[in-house]
Amino acid sequence: MNKLSFEIKDGIAVLELDNPPVNSLGIELREALVAALERANADPGVEAIVIIGSGSVFSGGADIREFGTPKAVAHPNLRTVISEIEDSGKPVIAAVGGVCMGGGLELAMACHYRVGVPGGKIALPEVKLGLLPGAGGTQRLPRLLGVEAALNIIVSGATVASEKLGGTPLFDAFAAGDLPGIALTFARRVVKEKMGLKKVRDLKLGMPNAEAYFQFARNTIKSVAGPYPAPLACVDAVAAAVGKPFDAGLKRERELFTTLMLSPESAALRHIFQAERAASHILDVPDDTPIRPIATVGVIGAGTMGGGITMSLINAGLPVVLLETKQDALDRGLANIRRNYQGALRKGTLNEAGLAQRLALITPTLDFAGLRDVDLVIEAVFENMDVKRQVFETLDGVVRQGAVLASNTSALNLDEIAKFTRRPQEVIGLHFFSPANVMRLLEVVRGAKTAKDVLATAMRLSKTMGKIAVVSGVCDGFIGNRMLARYGAAAHDLIMFGALPLEVDAALQDFGMAMGPFRVGDLAGLDIGWALRKRRSAEFPDRDFSNVSDVLCEAGRFGQKTGAGWYRYVQGSRDPIPDPEVTAIIEEYRRKKGITPRKVSSQEIVERCVYALINEGARILEDGIAQRASDIDLVYLNGYGFPAYRGGPMFYADQTGLHVVARALQRIAAQPGSDPAAWTPAPLLTRLSKQGQTFNGSKGSPT
Ligand code: NAD
Repeated sequence: MNKLSFEIKDGIAVLELDNPPVNSLGIELREALVAALERANADPGVEAIVIIGSGSVFSGGADIREFGTPKAVAHPNLRTVISEIEDSGKPVIAAVGGVCMGGGLELAMACHYRVGVPGGKIALPEVKLGLLPGAGGTQRLPRLLGVEAALNIIVSGATVASEKLGGTPLFDAFAAGDLPGIALTFARRVVKEKMGLKKVRDLKLGMPNAEAYFQFARNTIKSVAGPYPAPLACVDAVAAAVGKPFDAGLKRERELFTTLMLSPESAALRHIFQAERAASHILDVPDDTPIRPIATVGVIGAGTMGGGITMSLINAGLPVVLLETKQDALDRGLANIRRNYQGALRKGTLNEAGLAQRLALITPTLDFAGLRDVDLVIEAVFENMDVKRQVFETLDGVVRQGAVLASNTSALNLDEIAKFTRRPQEVIGLHFFSPANVMRLLEVVRGAKTAKDVLATAMRLSKTMGKIAVVSGVCDGFIGNRMLARYGAAAHDLIMFGALPLEVDAALQDFGMAMGPFRVGDLAGLDIGWALRKRRSAEFPDRDFSNVSDVLCEAGRFGQKTGAGWYRYVQGSRDPIPDPEVTAIIEEYRRKKGITPRKVSSQEIVERCVYALINEGARILEDGIAQRASDIDLVYLNGYGFPAYRGGPMFYADQTGLHVVARALQRIAAQPGSDPAAWTPAPLLTRLSKQGQTFNGSKGSPT
């Protein structure tokens, strides 16, 4: 396929990049560019060269599909293309419109001139993948914009509107209008006025007090970079642009880039980037599956979840019919929604008019008939099968045929719920996370009978709401909560062995979890698990579901909402304070169970909790509940506070080595009292580790 068109207009060769959707600089386009440059230079009828993008995009940079493949570095690589442009004997002019990012911007900066129009999006976003611009970006941008402005763009990876840069030396001409016309006029001027070959590398870059400035920058950036090495490497690269000749600066940039490329943090971020793109593809649902149009949505229940779901929908501009059983519940729900917007009003991210516009999208109702014409319904009523039955039977009789019927259940069997209707193919799970208007994760639960186009429609809706959707099959807890149950049990084991909640939380927070499991328990409310265990005990009287947190609940310690749980809280504060009363309760509980406490190391804490997650993740993968290991990673990263720089539990397992994980699990499983269902290495884990493979390298994975 031809990725570039070549045309000569009045002595100007116009090279149009044509690699939709963003003219990414894949190997075919790179080859075509080099060939076109040679052709233009060899043609005596050509006096100057314009590089422009098709489809009102200049270039989004590297081709992500080439990541991690030999194509990414195949000859000619981007640096070669850039040298060819800079060394062209005839002036090269970049016509920059629309997206001009990463390698695209580096390419433009190697041209002898750049012309631009308003509405462009300029960025060097490599830092977001734990990298730095590795094709001269850190050396050329400071020469064009000055050190400070360039460093800000490189370290933040932020997108800057082209009009903000219109008056800077980044652009030799900048005006509103027809970009191809502007570029041709400018090219003719270059020829006519013999403006020559202006190279950014030749621009002088001086900075008084450079040393002090870079020290200040390093100090500031260190405090926000956390565990990521890339932001500081960006400073080093820009410092080299100031302190060294151009080619030596380029060399330094390359060294830093290579180091970052090999860092586990960048590997994790690149994995996540790919994982997010892979998640929307469903293995047996073609990407061109017709989508059912969703113009209005019904939400049933205006409680915690229904309110947040409604906000997600109206934030995306979708009208919502919000149904409750009683007027006071409806009023309360609406008041909560209004209150939840106060933060955005205070921060100025939303104004009163915007809020009014959103709230006007809600049609409150107490009557199921109000849902007759909606295109999709999301049920978020009490977690009780009888209540769900009543709701779905009613919906089946009221809502128009062809509408999608979704449930937000976290623990009930979706296939059972689907049977309450005569249209199980339209039923799907949309498992939002709390607070639903904030959390990006959405588990899209595929029932045994869910139609493919219903699934595709739910995936599209999630995108409309700005969510990261991951498909899960039906099982107890779906992907996330099924793994969480193992993690919670592992944490509970540790306090039985002799650790304190504070020690377990601290070790896992040092590992990078946003919050340790006991703090999370206090935040969510310990009474939820208590009620669940009571239900389970009634269902399975011969099994022991008891837990030391039952004793906390019996003492009225439900967590933050009662001022005490695993920790103590002073009124108005969420800071956990270790509580000797809890220590006494745990000690008493151990005594009753005949446990002699022992020392538990941080390493054991992390190993047990994280490996428990990994082992259950492997089972979930093997059972076909998750489509690919990277989907499991996304669930844990976006719903459960797993650290991004570790890439998710399955990626972390891959990095650690599956044989290491499998061996540790075997060791734990062999210890007296270990639950074999939890600790025996999953068959998939054993198999892959024996074959020397990884989870993310196996079928259906993005990398
Ligand atoms: P909630 O108690 O805050 O809200 C439930 C609401 O449903 C109440 O306002 C109630 O009046 C209303 N309701 C009950 N029966 C109804 C009916 N027949 N018709 C209309 N409205 C009815 O509960 P929640 O925390 O919002 O949970 C709702 C669902 O979401 C449950 O299935 C739960 O498992 C699931 N869920 C909850 C969370 C969470 O963190 N709270 C997370 C994910 C999923």
